[in-house]
Amino acid sequence: MVSSKLAIALADEEDKLLACVHCGLCLEACPTYLHTGDENDSPRGRIYLMRAVEEGRLNPESNSFGAHINRCLGCRACEQACPAGVEYGQLLEAARSDLTKTERQRRGWTSRLIRFVLKHIWLHPARLRFAFTTTRVMRNIRLPKLLIRSKLARLISPRLEFALALLDSSRGDERRRDESVARPVSDSADSRALLFKGCVTEGLFARVNRACVRVLEANGCSVSSPKDQVCCGALHAHAGDLEGARTLARRNIDAFNDEAQAGIVTNAGGCGAMLLSYAHLLSDDAGYAERAREFAKRVRDISQQLAATGILEGASVSESVTTYDASCHLLYGQRASEAPLEMLGAIPDLKFVPLVGSEVCCGGAGVYNLLEPELSRRVLDEKLAHIKETGAQVLTTGNPGCHMQIGAGARLKGMEGVRVCHPVELLDESYERAGFYKSRSQESEARSQKG
Ligand code: SF4
Ligand code: SF4
Repeated sequence: MVSSKLAIALADEEDKLLACVHCGLCLEACPTYLHTGDENDSPRGRIYLMRAVEEGRLNPESNSFGAHINRCLGCRACEQACPAGVEYGQLLEAARSDLTKTERQRRGWTSRLIRFVLKHIWLHPARLRFAFTTTRVMRNIRLPKLLIRSKLARLISPRLEFALALLDSSRGDERRRDESVARPVSDSADSRALLFKGCVTEGLFARVNRACVRVLEANGCSVSSPKDQVCCGALHAHAGDLEGARTLARRNIDAFNDEAQAGIVTNAGGCGAMLLSYAHLLSDDAGYAERAREFAKRVRDISQQLAATGILEGASVSESVTTYDASCHLLYGQRASEAPLEMLGAIPDLKFVPLVGSEVCCGGAGVYNLLEPELSRRVLDEKLAHIKETGAQVLTTGNPGCHMQIGAGARLKGMEGVRVCHPVELLDESYERAGFYKSRSQESEARSQKG
């Protein structure tokens, strides 16, 4: 019964399965285990199930295997807690990849719709641009807000209501500011940065990408952004579509090929962790394996880039109490724990309050919030309770998925007064107040006076 593709895929990862010594030190770090209390919803339990499949003792098509694997957030907090160095994230991807094929018959409509969109829209840049343009128009005319306020969305489906709240929470100040950086940029190779824009960030949070460029330039970097870049593939990998993820990975490696020495800078924890994983994802691809390893070495988060070059201090921005929630993939995938806080530390007089449980997943996890709404909501409720305890009016986080998850939860729980934003947005505002930016007209005036 179990000569399945899943068993074969897991056999390829056998050394990682065998590395688990069942010590249980990961249990307390696992949000799903803490919420369900079921060992099968823990890293150790899931590894045990994978091993049973690999050894032919468990049918991978059994409901219990699929349910427990699908209930994993993929947050990778267990990797950090594990003394044996089990690379759980890669095991999960292998398990999900084949589960996707065996589960085809029993998927619900939400899952089918998401997989259809990932395959037929996300893999095609022109279609994706069109989809984001349409989505932005709906958001900007406040259609999601209207449907939520009228209770119509909830009447149709609570899942639809949450999806609309996710979209509504991405709204922000999208005005294009006609500003350039007053400080001259350096042209040395290690100060050159290639911005990875990310499909969701560019589609719904273009303001964050623009803030990144300004802040990097203010800190002496010269920034460009390859035009042929595509989605990083994280949503595909988390949904088990590893072939879709590989297709996107190859395109990105080609797109960022020109300036082999420049760092590849992201501002989204999910994208950054995915770009780093290209080395593993393409390790069996003769044409790309070496290039993927070189590519991964150049990837860094905006906070890590700034920590390396040094961060200029700006001016104070607001009286609001501010806190920070760590994106799991930024923290556990990219190992950026202190660097994002250093960005906030460069804002004088910021009233910063640490968030209890900042290192715990918010329950967003790609499309998990739509596929596993009940458990996702329980994880989110705990996060919102901690945010409330801080009394913060500003919540910063370095990933658009976390931004939307927390923003949506805050909207539906009546915490609309909490502003959610990226730490780089606050630093950008701080630089603007400090007068680091000047308008293009001021710049040309200064040039003509010099001339
Ligand atoms: S901490 Fe590591 S070795 Fe211990 S049970 Fe968890 S995954 Fe296995
Ligand atoms: S990835 Fe997160 S949810 Fe999944 S087993 Fe590890 S700690 Fe638990």
